[in-house]
Amino acid sequence: MKVIDYINQSKGTILSYEVLPPLKGKNIHSLFQHLDPLMEFKPSFINVTYHRSEHVSRQQPDGTTERIEIRKRPGTVGICAAIMNHYQVDAVPHLICGGFTKRETEDALIDLNFLGIDNVLILRGDTPKGEVGTVPDPKGNRYAIDLLRQAERLNNGFYLDEEILDGFKTNFCLGVAGYPEKHIEATSLEADLVYLKEKVDAGAEYIVTQMFFDNSKYFDFVAKCRAAGILVPIIPGLKPLTNKKQLTAIPRIFNLELPHDLINAMNSTTTDEAAEKVGEEWLVDQSKELKKAGVPVLHYYTLGKPQVIYNAVSKIF
Ligand code: FAD
Repeated sequence: MKVIDYINQSKGTILSYEVLPPLKGKNIHSLFQHLDPLMEFKPSFINVTYHRSEHVSRQQPDGTTERIEIRKRPGTVGICAAIMNHYQVDAVPHLICGGFTKRETEDALIDLNFLGIDNVLILRGDTPKGEVGTVPDPKGNRYAIDLLRQAERLNNGFYLDEEILDGFKTNFCLGVAGYPEKHIEATSLEADLVYLKEKVDAGAEYIVTQMFFDNSKYFDFVAKCRAAGILVPIIPGLKPLTNKKQLTAIPRIFNLELPHDLINAMNSTTTDEAAEKVGEEWLVDQSKELKKAGVPVLHYYTLGKPQVIYNAVSKIF
C-alpha cells in the first residue's frame, strides 16, 4: 500500500521506522533482531536506506596502496523484499542519484515494481566519504528532481528506450527529503524551498524531514512550506542523541542546531547510560508534542540504537 494512502486513511498519527542495510558480511537476521522488538508497535511502513559505494585505500602485500571501490552496506532492494515477506509490512526503499546511470535506475525501478513495492523515497544521495562535493555520474541523474522526473516518466509508461511503445505504467508513490534547518549546501532556506517545491510540483506526494531536535524548527518549516504552496504531508524524521560526542558531530554533519537545554542536560551527565537516558527522554517529549500537533507520521531513524527507540515509542504508541 502507498505511504500517501496510509496517511490519508489514518485518523491519527501513524508510525514508521528507518533502518540501514547490515554491513557487508552480516546476514539478514542481524536486521530482523534489530526490528523484531520494534514491530510490537505496528509500524505502517519501514524505510531502508541506500548506500553508494566509496573509494578506500588498501595497503598491498608489496607495500603499495591501491584505491578500491567498496559498498559497505549493499542489499537495499533485497532487504525491502525480505522485510515485506517476513513481517507483512510495507517497505520503502531509498533510491539515490549517485553511482547509478539512468539505465541502472530504470532497471532498479523495474525490479522494485516486480517485487510489489509501491513506494520509493527519492534522494540525491550523500557525498561519498573522503570526497568533496557530489559529482554526478555522466550518464546518471544530478539532483533528486532529475531522478524523480525519471520515476514519474516510468509511472506514465515512458522508458528510456523510445522503441518501447505502450510500456507498462508503474504506480510508485514517490516521497522526497526536506530540511527544516536547510540543506547544508543551500544558500538559504528560501532557496532550498524553491527546489523542494519543484520536487512536489513534479509529483512528490510527501516529504520526510531531516532530523531536528527543536520542534519549533519543524513547525516553522511546515508554515514556510505552506506559504510557498507546498501542500503535501510533511513527515517529521526523529533521531535520539545517545552520547556526548554527537553534541558536536551531529550539528556539523547535518547542519542543525541543538537546543541549549538539551546540550546542558547531556553535559551534566557523568555516564554513557545517563547521557542515553537524556536523549531518550528528549525524544519522548518531542514525539508527544508532535503527535499532539497532529503530524501525519512519526518517522524514527533507528540507526543502531533500537532499545532507545523501543523505550521511546512504547510511551507514544
Ligand atoms: P536535492 O533535492 O537534489 O538537493 C540537494 C541540494 O541541491 C540542496 O542544497 C538543494 O537546495 C540543491 N538543489 C536541488 N535541486 C537543484 C537544482 N535543480 N539546481 C541547483 N541546486 C539544486 N543519503 C543517502 O546516500 N542514502 C539514503 O538512503 C539517504 N536517506 C535520506 C533520508 C532522508 C529522510 C533525508 C532527509 C536524507 C537522506 N539522505 C540519504 C541524505 C541525502 O541524500 C543528502 O542530504 C543529499 O545531500 C541531498 O539529498 P536531496 O535528495 O535532498 O537532494
